[in-house]
Amino acid sequence: MILAVASGKGGTGKTTVAASLALSWPGPVTAVDLDVEEPNLHLLLHPQTTGGQTAYMEVPQARQERCTACGACAELCQYKAVSLLGEVLLTFPEMCHGCGGCLAVCPAEALTPGQREMGQVLWGRAGELAVYQGRLRVGEAMSPPLMRRVMAKVQADGAAAAGDVIIDAPPGVSCPAVTAASQAQAILLVTEPTPFGLYDFRLAWQAFAPLERPLAAVINRAGVGDRKAYAFCADHGIPILAEIPYDRTVAEAYSRGVPACRASAELAGLFRRLAQDCQALVGGREAAHA
Ligand code: SF4
Ligand code: SF4
Repeated sequence: MILAVASGKGGTGKTTVAASLALSWPGPVTAVDLDVEEPNLHLLLHPQTTGGQTAYMEVPQARQERCTACGACAELCQYKAVSLLGEVLLTFPEMCHGCGGCLAVCPAEALTPGQREMGQVLWGRAGELAVYQGRLRVGEAMSPPLMRRVMAKVQADGAAAAGDVIIDAPPGVSCPAVTAASQAQAILLVTEPTPFGLYDFRLAWQAFAPLERPLAAVINRAGVGDRKAYAFCADHGIPILAEIPYDRTVAEAYSRGVPACRASAELAGLFRRLAQDCQALVGGREAAHA
């Protein structure tokens, strides 16, 4: 199964949970950092990078001398990434979403395929654990195409067929977060029992529930704040699979690059149980692939 570890906002402990889950998983597993704008899973897993490739998006290049100024491309493009200024053909590669529509409709071959660098897809290992990550190019505004490229590499390498996959999703509820969640068969939402945490948790539930994936919650920093997040889960049928105590040792371990599951025997047991419960979310990998 593919599990996305997500959160309505940054700083809830999502990456801490994703890393510790991957290290506690009872079977073959691949960890994927899809938070391509700010990947940090490697800070806890410390993988040895064994390969990488630059990912590109196909964008149109103008051939002014062929253009008849018919306007078909500009009319089609929803992102205004190709347009006509009088009879001058203009392309704006940074605004292009790479759909290829303008190239397809041009009757004069006045647009040719070019490339825009999106970023890097990197892979490696941390012991038994396979680790993939994307790194968005500085200045690149669109992360979903690179995220899909990372997942395509994971699939091409057979990682999803050989075991389970844990995605560290981008925080928030915008397009990148939904892109990550939509790649998964189950979603684990990490939240904290504070008013801010509940506000963003509610937004996350509203964003991800329509995907109709099994969805569960982890309460991080349990013991601070109030019980409203628990009530929200009860009201909406969201199972709480674990409560990670508000504990200085977790923060100290994080600051040293040590995953929470290795901070204490108690936390090691907590994450082992959480991993088993996550597998049960979709009835185990075998059932999911049946
Ligand atoms: S490829 Fe798609 S998004 Fe890009 S310029 Fe052409 S129509 Fe617009
Ligand atoms: S569709 Fe082709 S010929 Fe027509 S305006 Fe666009 S680039 Fe020019």
